[in-house]
Amino acid sequence: MHQPSLPHLADQDPELAGLVEAEARRQFEKIRLIASENYVSPAVLEATGSVLTNKYSEGYAGRRYYEGQQNIDPIELLAVERARTLFGVEHANVQPYSGSPANLAVYMAFLRPGDTVMGLSLPMGGHLTHGWSVSATGKWFNPVRYEVRADTGRVDLDEVRDLALKERPKLIWCGGTAIPRMIDFAGFAEIAREAGAVLAADIAHIAGLVAGGAHPSPAGHADVISTTTHKTLRGPRGAMVMSTAEHASAVDKAVFPGLQGGPHNHTTAAIAVALKEAARPDFSAYAHRIVANAKALAEALLERGFDLISGGTDNHLILIDLTNKGVPGKPAAQALDRAGIELNHNAVPFDPRKPFDPSGLRVGTAAITTRGLEPGQMPRVAAWIDDIVRATARGEDETAGEERRVAAEIRELLAAHPMPGWAPAP
Ligand SMILES: *Cc1c(COP(=O)(O)O)cnc(C)c1O
Repeated sequence: MHQPSLPHLADQDPELAGLVEAEARRQFEKIRLIASENYVSPAVLEATGSVLTNKYSEGYAGRRYYEGQQNIDPIELLAVERARTLFGVEHANVQPYSGSPANLAVYMAFLRPGDTVMGLSLPMGGHLTHGWSVSATGKWFNPVRYEVRADTGRVDLDEVRDLALKERPKLIWCGGTAIPRMIDFAGFAEIAREAGAVLAADIAHIAGLVAGGAHPSPAGHADVISTTTHKTLRGPRGAMVMSTAEHASAVDKAVFPGLQGGPHNHTTAAIAVALKEAARPDFSAYAHRIVANAKALAEALLERGFDLISGGTDNHLILIDLTNKGVPGKPAAQALDRAGIELNHNAVPFDPRKPFDPSGLRVGTAAITTRGLEPGQMPRVAAWIDDIVRATARGEDETAGEERRVAAEIRELLAAHPMPGWAPAP
């Protein structure tokens, strides 16, 4: 049953309610290894489903365009204060609708169309919004891209410095979507200072690790920090832009009225709830366990002959190059999904294959950590991945039976690990 329960939905729209129930069961029964996903708490779900969705409140607390903000203002101020305290920043804007609009606000605040922006190339682990060609950020600005080294799979700050001093970008992004290693915010800040650029840290993936003390913080190094709230941070789908006091007004103006209309107050409230949860000691334990699980899983995969980009992980994320296994990423990901292991195919650095059918798999341990899985259980997860990848390499007739066996074993394991927000009928 869904928690909070959905009796009105079941009564008035059984078709939709059935789909929600099916999705909840799917999330319950699968080992969810998509690095950007998680399970939020019932408190976050309740705030997201509240009457706050009924209210318009363009502007900021004390400076709104519509009346009736007696309760919305304190809700947004709570979220802002909790963000400032948790991340140790001078300013926080909690209104961006999601991570991509938050990053657009960073452009709006600091750049003019045509200005040069530097970011990690998408196939090397960067994000679309860091100036990739199909994104507005790559079309409307002049993007230059740094890469990872072929021999180490890691960003080399000497290469970043050389490129920054040659191209003189106005803004430099650090962070990304498929980076298995620690980001050296202090090193990036030094380069940005030398090059006269604004440093933007996009911590969408690692915000929960930063909040829980399991990854260094960009606060004090980056001029501006953007993050989603729904990945390791374990809040609702939303985003924040944080900055020094100096840039507060530029950031706020960029979000509203620069890019957005009314903020999503139900999301703002749920962000406030998630930030309160993230300030508790048990969240720090969760953040450190995410990393311990990722390291244990990486170790077990290496023992089984998997080729990991950069040779391992410092955070929640593992990037696997399947080339030596004789299977591309997409068929492997599809077979794993049928076997109860949900992850995504992903480009690897210098991938010879096409983006929609790349060589790699991306794995993250945030969601399984929320389910209570421990490092001691990771060798079993690695064995399941290995069994399915091997079966897929051997060919079609081999796979169906193997997928059924693994899916059943996983259902049995996960039945003992409660899921926030849903439980099977007793
Ligand atoms: C997920 C992500 C985003 C975008 O977030 P959306 O909410 O999907 O728009 C931006 N930057 C990075 C690094 C991300 O990982």
